[in-house]
Amino acid sequence: MADMANAALFNNRNIPFDVCNFKLDPPLGDQVLVKVEGCTICGSDIHSFLGRRVVEVPTVLGHEIVGKIVSFGPENNRCDYSGNQLKVGDRITWSVVANCGSCLFCLRGVPQKCDSHFKYGHKKLSQEVPWTGGLAEYILLVHGTKIFRVPGGLSLEAACPANCTTATNVAAFRVAGNLAGKIVLVVGAGMLGITACAMAKFNGARKVIVCDTNEKRLLKAHEFGADESSKPEDLSKLVSYVTHGLGVDVMFEMTGVPGAFENAFNCLGIGGKVVLVGSVFSSRPVSLDMEIVVRKLLSIEGIHNYTPDDLCQALFFLNETRNLPWESLVGIWLRLAEVDLAFQLAQSPEYYRVGISNDINL
Ligand SMILES: [Zn+2]
Ligand SMILES: [Zn+2]
Repeated sequence: MADMANAALFNNRNIPFDVCNFKLDPPLGDQVLVKVEGCTICGSDIHSFLGRRVVEVPTVLGHEIVGKIVSFGPENNRCDYSGNQLKVGDRITWSVVANCGSCLFCLRGVPQKCDSHFKYGHKKLSQEVPWTGGLAEYILLVHGTKIFRVPGGLSLEAACPANCTTATNVAAFRVAGNLAGKIVLVVGAGMLGITACAMAKFNGARKVIVCDTNEKRLLKAHEFGADESSKPEDLSKLVSYVTHGLGVDVMFEMTGVPGAFENAFNCLGIGGKVVLVGSVFSSRPVSLDMEIVVRKLLSIEGIHNYTPDDLCQALFFLNETRNLPWESLVGIWLRLAEVDLAFQLAQSPEYYRVGISNDINL
């Protein structure tokens, strides 16, 4: 273990990161010290960087992380979420929210809303301990963190987004219910939407329709299971054609853009369900015709983050779909020292993800 290591401090929106050297202490209690192998920049990191999302600063951003165990605190039981033994060197990911397990929300099955939750990549720094986010050489896993071993053979590109994009999708699909034989509409073909296309097919959807303003992203979605694709202006015509006028059964809203939701909402058929996933930044309220919701017996649900079981399923899903070109979604890997460039590139629609890694082999 090194004595000192680097972390990229985020001090305020739209200003360069401060890559600084900090003291690295051994883990205490049941903490686990992990060397970051790679961290991909998520859409919510970009929302934070641009100030569309409120974060307390200074902080270390980055939560889509894969790392290797360096050392355990003296009280750690060295077990993963399923109770399997962990050892130094194991390649792991973990639930983005560490939770207490005993508060009202934990007991109600929404540990991501735990009263005393700790969210990686979102924590205001205190006492010069910067090991709370993925844009650093090391990260310190705190009490209540649910750890998962990354299945062998899963690439860094496939595994990094598991604990955010993929697990959030699993949560959304859990809420959507059985998709066998159903027609699914995915609004937005970014990382969340592309993953949703693949997951819809994996879960037995009869047809997957995807909508986005970006032609290249629509083409890419076809590589991940989309059967039909459309720009927003042509969506209702396409849905009407594909569903013989009946409308779609389930719609996943991945953009958080009010206009995208309003445009797609009328594509729902009787008994249809909308799962809202992408709205993780403030925007104007949407206009919604309540009569349509009533007469079509529609339901609308929101999903925010996920449970540890969802992350377990996400890793299973990624391992089962290794034939898909997940690697192509991480456009470029850069070093921690290049974090400013990484955030510039990550805002381009060219890239689904930009990764930060200090692994010299990349
Ligand atoms: Zn994320
Ligand atoms: Zn709790």
